[in-house]
Amino acid sequence: MESLRELFKIGNGPSSSHTMGPKRAAEQFLERCPDAEAFRVTLYGSLAATGRGHLTDKAIEAVLLPVAPTEIVWKANVILPFHPNGMRFEALRNGEVYDEWVIYSIGGGALANEDTKPADKKQIYTMSTIEEIKDWCYREGKTYWEYVEECEGKEIWDFLDNIWTVMCETIERGLNNDGVLPGGLKVARKASTYFVKSKSFTDSLATRAKIYAYALAVAEENASGGKVVTAPTCGSCGVLPAVIYHLTTSREFLRIRVLRALATAGLFGNVVKTNSSISGAEVGCQGEIGVACAMAAAAACQLFGGTPAQIEYAAEMGLEHHLGLTCDPVCGLVQVPCIERNAIAAARAFDANTYATLSDGSHLVSFDKVVDVMHETGHNLPSLYRETSEGGLAKKVQR
Ligand code: SF4
Repeated sequence: MESLRELFKIGNGPSSSHTMGPKRAAEQFLERCPDAEAFRVTLYGSLAATGRGHLTDKAIEAVLLPVAPTEIVWKANVILPFHPNGMRFEALRNGEVYDEWVIYSIGGGALANEDTKPADKKQIYTMSTIEEIKDWCYREGKTYWEYVEECEGKEIWDFLDNIWTVMCETIERGLNNDGVLPGGLKVARKASTYFVKSKSFTDSLATRAKIYAYALAVAEENASGGKVVTAPTCGSCGVLPAVIYHLTTSREFLRIRVLRALATAGLFGNVVKTNSSISGAEVGCQGEIGVACAMAAAAACQLFGGTPAQIEYAAEMGLEHHLGLTCDPVCGLVQVPCIERNAIAAARAFDANTYATLSDGSHLVSFDKVVDVMHETGHNLPSLYRETSEGGLAKKVQR
């Protein structure tokens, strides 16, 4: 498996696969063809179907337009075989194409194509299933974050420290921003009012309201193109920070414990990214919100001192109970149902942690099996439920 540095990425929303990935691809193509007189970029499949709402064209133009005129061609009905998020970059001189590159945005801001070899991706981790890693934990008397440190080296803590700083900044910004989100749906931000109202509640209601507020704060920042951390994607970036932020502000966990919880969350996200997908266009929202919930549940369970088996159980429940979740964003914007979905999944991650912590950790369905099932389910979903905005809520709720 690759480093957690390839999972937690800092960038601007609203979509890691539809904004961050295409922007990175444009930057790489520009490095390859700095003298082009014009560019043509064809977007295929899901990238074309929801690219306008996700600002894909703007992300590409921001890189290429300052250098040369750039034409964006939309081909939503053409799905290239490698992945639903295909892009063809063409560089032109004297009106003729002299270089072209077909590349795919495969989720979480990552790029790949048929020529990408496993060796191109630096494999930091030798084990890539939770079963193997959990066995290692029990054999060595250690836990998940220690496996992360063993593979990544001690430098990973500085990296995660910066990730946590950005996550906190996003929450704090989101709690203080008001107004209507861009895109035309006229969705008003809710994080600040949820946070203010949380103060008039007590106990479990106050806890719920705060978790919702923190997740909304991040998801709303993402929807407005603000700076976020992919966890594992932009669309699902509110779940993990909301859960950890609530735990750190309501209990006195040392910062190093928070970073260890982030490492554990990252490890579970990495296993899904390696063995299946974190792309809504490939496996639906179960691969984004479902995986975010699993990561957050694992982090919470780690913070509460869960055993490796309990942590796995919490993560397994976080993903299992999102199996089959479709991706059908209204008007192609990462707003409805995405923003609320972050808040509800954050609360669900808490429930999964509580349930697992009350158990002795034994459970019938392993995390790896749920990842397999998620993969199969995602590939059996018709494409209209995989980030094309052609089915589900996107079809019934139109503006
Ligand atoms: S519905 Fe889920 S997968 Fe689809 S854009 Fe929204 S958050 Fe991402």
